[in-house]
Amino acid sequence: MGKLQDNNTLTTKPSVDIVLRAIGGWTWYCGYHDTAGQGDDFEECQFMAGAHIMYHEIDGEVCELYYREHEVKEEA
Ligand SMILES: [Zn+2]
Repeated sequence: MGKLQDNNTLTTKPSVDIVLRAIGGWTWYCGYHDTAGQGDDFEECQFMAGAHIMYHEIDGEVCELYYREHEVKEEA
């Protein structure tokens, strides 16, 4: 976190750490909205996709979901 200079100013560090992680587990993809997400297991993946469906359901849009399992890559 940064430093609070006064009530309206927050200064943050200029550097940003980027963490890259090998993709393993499951991903979901919605062909209608061209949106994707991931989860560690199929249940989590379905849950995350469910949130996407609920978000668009409000506008009456119907999603077109695809699930895919990915090989877990060995971490260095
Ligand atoms: Zn969708």
